[in-house]
Amino acid sequence: MLKIECPFCGNRNETEFSCGGEAHIARPLAENKITDLAFSEYLFMRDNPKGVFLERWCHTSGCRRWFNMARDTVSHEIIEIYAMGQKPKTAIGKKAFLSNWRRKSKAETASTPIKRTAK
Ligand SMILES: [Zn+2]
Repeated sequence: MLKIECPFCGNRNETEFSCGGEAHIARPLAENKITDLAFSEYLFMRDNPKGVFLERWCHTSGCRRWFNMARDTVSHEIIEIYAMGQKPKTAIGKKAFLSNWRRKSKAETASTPIKRTAK
């Protein structure tokens, strides 16, 4: 059983938490037109790596708040816990974030607003 350090409640058993799947999946903005294939990749494609994985977790039987975790899926070592909306700070976490195929996907590129010039 994992012991997970909730950033709000402290150290708790894994049974109090729910894993929300892969972290850092940015939704494409409606103003950015992408193909159905690119949108389906955003919607359905999830990584399942052997090694370091960035996940979202919720303390469902506690404070019910969400946070991110960098965890090794082989050893179950928790490398880092960090807040929603932030990126990993450890070198291993940063490497996992940057090496993810999603960073170069059309859906993620379309998640930032179009730059408009003032008239
Ligand atoms: Zn908590």
